[in-house]
Amino acid sequence: MPSRRKFLQTAAIGLPLIACKNMAKSNTVIKPIVIATWDGGFNVNKAAWEVLNKADGLALDAVEAGAISIENDISCCVGLGANPDRDGKVTLDACIMDHQFNCGSVAFLERIKNPISVARKVMESSPHVFLVGEGAQQFALAQGFELQDGKLSAKAQSEYESWLIKSEYSPVINVEKGAIPAPQKLSNGAINHDTMALVALDSAGNLAGACTTSGMAFKMHGRIGDSPIIGSGLYVDNEVGAVTATGQGEEVIRISGASYIISLMRSGIAPKEACRKAVEKIVNINPEKAKTLQVAFIALDKNGNHGAFAIQPEFTYCVRDLEREEELKCDSYFKSVI
Ligand code: ASP
Repeated sequence: MPSRRKFLQTAAIGLPLIACKNMAKSNTVIKPIVIATWDGGFNVNKAAWEVLNKADGLALDAVEAGAISIENDISCCVGLGANPDRDGKVTLDACIMDHQFNCGSVAFLERIKNPISVARKVMESSPHVFLVGEGAQQFALAQGFELQDGKLSAKAQSEYESWLIKSEYSPVINVEKGAIPAPQKLSNGAINHDTMALVALDSAGNLAGACTTSGMAFKMHGRIGDSPIIGSGLYVDNEVGAVTATGQGEEVIRISGASYIISLMRSGIAPKEACRKAVEKIVNINPEKAKTLQVAFIALDKNGNHGAFAIQPEFTYCVRDLEREEELKCDSYFKSVI
């Protein structure tokens, strides 16, 4: 515990109390920070920051709050308002991980509003790590979550009806404008995003991460991507950092993306460089195929340094800490054509 004198000194020079909490212990100021994928991360970070910015705000609570905020937005592409699979069902995947290797996941979950909180319950109130489908739903109901009506949102209904006209099986992944090839837009012209992934460091020096998704739009019924898979879509090692992913889940799974990046960071490689190496690994598996893929990783180390890298250009991620709240452009393997 910092002595009262130490506290008064640090308070006198104007450092926020939250950043000073662990100063006496380590002589290093730990500044809380949260980073989240794409521009939707801006609002998600706001929700996470409300938790992180409290004196005892936990990274775990912060990432859950961030994920809930976007799951609750029915107009968004994550949660029950999202696009369905090709059978017209919205099936949700989510996972969460704390600073002590505790983790919980759910996948192929239907009609439950906040899969991230079910994942947390799996972590905290079951002896398991991963529940799927009906079993995950049954568990959620037993934990007091409400069964929703299962109707598509108006936006998703109209997207689905447009998709049904051709019913072409080519699940849509999020690619920004300026990418090669041209971004795959939804019929209303929107760029598709299906996943919100965020990682945070709290003032006690603990990391956590959360990832929530409806998966790829119009996917095969039963398809599960990287997002709920600990080690692929998300990994947290408190001695090293926290990493999460978005994009074509199959490619992230192939290289166990998040844990691969953590292992690079453990060897001293900086977050952005580690993300770049993971992207290169995916591209090198099949350089031709990579031209039509998007995968992006974001990484945060235990000291609050962060970085990101994507296959396709124009992907962004958002950062919130004591000094700033901003959206950053992410470097990419392929360069922008705009
Ligand atoms: N990674 C997600 C999946 O493959 C999709 C996304 O990030 O948009 O299910």
